[in-house]
Amino acid sequence: MSNFLNNSYKTLESYVPGEQPTDMKYIKLNTNEFPYEPSPYVIEKINEDETKKLNLYPDPKSTYLKETIAKRYGFDAKNVFVSNGSDETLSFYFMAFCENGVVFPDITYGFYEVYANLYNLDYKKIPLKDDFSIDVSDYIGINKNIIIANPNAPTGMVLSIDDIEKIVSSNKNNLVAIDEAYVDFGAESALGLVNKYDNLIVIQTFSKSRALAGGRLGFAIANEGIIADFEKIKYSTNPYNINRLTQIAGISAIKDDTYYMDLCKEVAKTREFTKNELTKLGFTLTDSYANFVFASHKNFDGEKLYLNLKSNGILVRHFKGERIKDYLRITIGKMEDMKVLIKTLKNIIGE
Ligand SMILES: *Cc1c(COP(=O)(O)O)cnc(C)c1O
Repeated sequence: MSNFLNNSYKTLESYVPGEQPTDMKYIKLNTNEFPYEPSPYVIEKINEDETKKLNLYPDPKSTYLKETIAKRYGFDAKNVFVSNGSDETLSFYFMAFCENGVVFPDITYGFYEVYANLYNLDYKKIPLKDDFSIDVSDYIGINKNIIIANPNAPTGMVLSIDDIEKIVSSNKNNLVAIDEAYVDFGAESALGLVNKYDNLIVIQTFSKSRALAGGRLGFAIANEGIIADFEKIKYSTNPYNINRLTQIAGISAIKDDTYYMDLCKEVAKTREFTKNELTKLGFTLTDSYANFVFASHKNFDGEKLYLNLKSNGILVRHFKGERIKDYLRITIGKMEDMKVLIKTLKNIIGE
């Protein structure tokens, strides 16, 4: 750290992304990426149409991308905000709307707390129940802005749409953001509530279910006024937040929707296989509806298992947080990768 950094940032703890190693080839089950390549159509569109135009700025309005997303989900383009990964939308949510405070579960996406600290907000972490489920009553009429990941990370557990509606309808003077990064792997979306409630923001990403983690594309759907507020922040920070190649990749991915939604079903099947096999090996698992499982083993330390798997060429994610340090978050890869994982764990566990 230099002597020049603003005082307010000196103690800031930044977000720590999962490893993206360059030293050797691992079976990568640590950052919840899609295990399949983008569709051939997406790759063709990036190559042909856009690369030669990189000397030109992209469309700052992302007009066609917004229209394509809006149509896919049954909204008007005025209800859609697009961002550089959904992380940028999340950043703007905390920056633009949360000066009177914000609450979120104690165990959830780690970036929420980072943003809350970055923007010096008054925030509160609400403990999940012992089984890692959300106690809906904690959020009824709480009178603060709320953000909830559904499915939650890193547990993969879901809140029902009825419960989300109870939270949204009991906090009409505050915003409720639902982060649906993993919704395409089997959970139900809250998008159906957006037209009914002016205080609901649904946030999704192309990183997890549309094979574009490297392209950086996320979006929010909400009422027109909220979207206009997001645009105001965008035009005050980075008007060209979605680059040319990513705009065309996003449009093409939506046009090729069946390719992705079929593969999401494949991932969900592989998840159920993995849950089964891990249970047979003595693991305890949460009921994950995401593209990862969250598992602990009573006889094995989480960190040691993580290190042991890594030395065997398999990367998973281990968090040091007190309540979850016994757990591993394991991304669902291709079936063949999960079979290697299970075989390796059998050896480690000695079955
Ligand atoms: C991965 C993830 C995100 C961010 O994804 P982007 O790559 O920035 O779109 C947001 N929320 C949750 C819960 C995630 O797991």
